Amino acid sequence: MKRRNFNHTLLKGIGGAAVLSTMPLSCAMKNPQGKKLGIALVGLGSYSTYQLAPALQQTEYCRLAGIVTGTPAKARRWAEQYNIPERNIYNYDSFDDIKNNEEIDIVYVVLPNFMHAEYSIRAARAGKHVICEKPMGMNVEECDAIIEACENGGVKLGIGYRLHSEPYTQQVKKFIKEKTFGNTLYVSGDAAYVSRGNPDQWRLDIKRSGGGALMNMGVYAIQSAIYSCGMNPISVTAQEFSTRPEYFKETDETITAQFEFPEGVVGNIMTSHNASANRLYVSCSQGWMELQPANSYGPLRGNTSQGPISFPHERQQKLQMDDFSLHILEGAVNKAPGAMGKRDMIVVEAIYSSIAGGGKKVNLELGDLGLV
Ligand code: NAD
Repeated sequence: MKRRNFNHTLLKGIGGAAVLSTMPLSCAMKNPQGKKLGIALVGLGSYSTYQLAPALQQTEYCRLAGIVTGTPAKARRWAEQYNIPERNIYNYDSFDDIKNNEEIDIVYVVLPNFMHAEYSIRAARAGKHVICEKPMGMNVEECDAIIEACENGGVKLGIGYRLHSEPYTQQVKKFIKEKTFGNTLYVSGDAAYVSRGNPDQWRLDIKRSGGGALMNMGVYAIQSAIYSCGMNPISVTAQEFSTRPEYFKETDETITAQFEFPEGVVGNIMTSHNASANRLYVSCSQGWMELQPANSYGPLRGNTSQGPISFPHERQQKLQMDDFSLHILEGAVNKAPGAMGKRDMIVVEAIYSSIAGGGKKVNLELGDLGLV
């Protein structure tokens, strides 16, 4: 295979290494009409505070227009910092009044997992487009209920899978689609970090999280295994490991799972709240590609058997929210639709089912569900 097959500019990288550089694939055009959709963030915790609100200062097609919070002091702080008018501030009781607010087009649900379905459904009933954070719900039933509410409300639904707007991830998907390195034979995805925080946090409480590492980080590993071959798995076997049961009382600490894909492709994932790992490796018939880190807020790093890949860094959440806005404004592809969130929840449930059955093989009949 020749380098020119990449259709990229080949630059000279640090230390003389070849660097494949492309323009960002996302949101390359400028906002033609200047229309910015109004987003209301529901839940002003860590992700809203440190990622979404700053990203919304950079977005071209949407803006931070409103907030929903149960804490009046937070509301005052945010109102001042982001110039949010009183009429666009809601609490959990007044939330449904958002239906009368023409300045809010999209409700972004950034709450603990057990609240995703309730607030996504209430937003859809209020006639607002919905972005729901990952994991989409506590189970497949909740995912179905969210999808149905959005269909009934005639509103668009996106999942907070920021990596589908991220340039390294998009490049891997493009390599796979164009078979740049031939057919995928094996994929390995790890998504894990060490949790040592407050033992009372919602992520360790099964009733509020729905599960541990798998529900939190595991969805990234599932996602990367799937987009690294462009197919849904047809079966899974899984194992759970516990080394700190006094801390992980209710939720899974470490899980490994093996996927069987069509055409004989094999996948292996690891997710943990007790080890650090952040990597995607794809072995193909004519080469390989690797992202490490693969799941963090960026910049990611990418390498291939033909040399490194390199992209300018932009906030992933900016790209993600602009992509979803373009989906609403111009009918651009929805890069992370509800069906994708539901598909991943089916896989999550299959993994838990395999573990409960002592590592038994669980067959999956996903077809093309959630593939974009
Ligand atoms: P967080 O704990 O920092 O924030 C949660 C917010 O929900 C807080 O403001 C809290 O006050 C509020 N809340 C309301 N009712 C609550 C209740 N009963 N219990 C606990 N909190 C309650 O969490 P976070 O890290 O911001 O995560 C929020 C969501 O965003 C989760 O679903 C998480 O999976 C998702 N997330 C996604 C990414 C990503 O990269 N896409 C990154 C981080 C978090």
